[in-house]
Amino acid sequence: MLGIDPRSIVLLAGVMGLLMSLVLFVLRRNYPPSIQGLSEWAAGPFLCFISTLLFGARGFIPDFMSAVIGNLFLLSGSALFFIGSQRFLGQPPSLRLWGGVILASAPVFAWFVLLHPNYIARLVVFTCLMAWLFFSHARLLFKHGANHIFTQLTGGVLLLQTGFLLLRMVAILIEGNAEGIFDTSPFQVIYIVAYALCVLLLSIGVVLMATERLRGEFEYLATHDTLTACLTRRALIDACEQELERNRRHGHSMALMMMDLDYFKSINDGHGHLVGDQVLVDFVDRVRQQLRLPDRLGRFGGEEFVLLLPETTRDNALLVAERIRASRSQVAGLPVCSVSIGIATPQRDSDTLDKLLARADQALYRAKHLGRDRVEAA
Ligand code: GH3
Ligand code: MG
Ligand code: MG
Repeated sequence: MLGIDPRSIVLLAGVMGLLMSLVLFVLRRNYPPSIQGLSEWAAGPFLCFISTLLFGARGFIPDFMSAVIGNLFLLSGSALFFIGSQRFLGQPPSLRLWGGVILASAPVFAWFVLLHPNYIARLVVFTCLMAWLFFSHARLLFKHGANHIFTQLTGGVLLLQTGFLLLRMVAILIEGNAEGIFDTSPFQVIYIVAYALCVLLLSIGVVLMATERLRGEFEYLATHDTLTACLTRRALIDACEQELERNRRHGHSMALMMMDLDYFKSINDGHGHLVGDQVLVDFVDRVRQQLRLPDRLGRFGGEEFVLLLPETTRDNALLVAERIRASRSQVAGLPVCSVSIGIATPQRDSDTLDKLLARADQALYRAKHLGRDRVEAA
């Protein structure tokens, strides 16, 4: 068909698998260990590469090597790829299940190659196992892939390949006279070309998934404070600018709260820096208990925090602030630390974020000046 030589395509697919395996090994070396699954993703295409060498050598090496060991390598490579995705998505890897299935399939392949040579029976067993594996893999990506475009695309490729596998099996069952892997019937050629593309697309898919995960981790590190996990000053300012713009356009209310722990230096001095850190984390936990989903909490400096409350009036902000001020630590043995809070709300359209922050700061200064452990609004 179309003058395509199936043996060349099989070998080409193997070389693509080898190259993609190298790319994934390099990623595994360079990416942080928090990105799991890269080892299995790298090993998977490598095993598929070995299987294509064995398939490609059909006729030159014993059938046992080519048809039995080749199929086992292909199944193992595809199973490892699936296990890589399970690890990547934090799901329990089904190593035992697939290890067992592949081991159990070995005597079946051997039976249909050595004792009762039957290509169609072998094909049915192989197709059912591969379709089960690919379908489980696609289902995993759709279910746990957080609706992300790259996971969906990879899942789509797996589903398509499941379709091609089944289509080839049905076509060969209907025709009933397949010659083997290098049969030049249209369905066999389409299947082999689809397989070659599938190796490439799946590897690209997982490279993109890992890169996207890495980008997400960097973005998180750039926008979140390491100690308290609240937003950094820069990220909070960005969120405030956006909210102020929304507020101008739609006339919504919003409030900014500047919070500073009282006499925090004396906690460090009296109990040590580590206890000081725990007090900061505990304070953020206390604040979080009072927040709604759109509220944003950022660490502005050492023991100074800013809270953005979208669609909140001055009176409601006063209530939230009072709840934060009155909250107490749930951690036994942690020194008590009160907080002073200054609140500001935009008063006119021309209010800039700098002006708003300056007003919240003035209100905070007043709260400190009037004795601390209190809330003041501009
Ligand atoms: P005030 O009531 O006027 O706010 O007094 P204060 O002692 O809270 O304020 P001051 O600005 O004098 O001290 C803040 C201290 O916070 C000084 C600094 O060492 C400490 N600090 C800043 N960042 C961290 C941190 O990440 N961990 C710990 N443990 N301490 C920090
Ligand atoms: Mg302070
Ligand atoms: Mg301070």
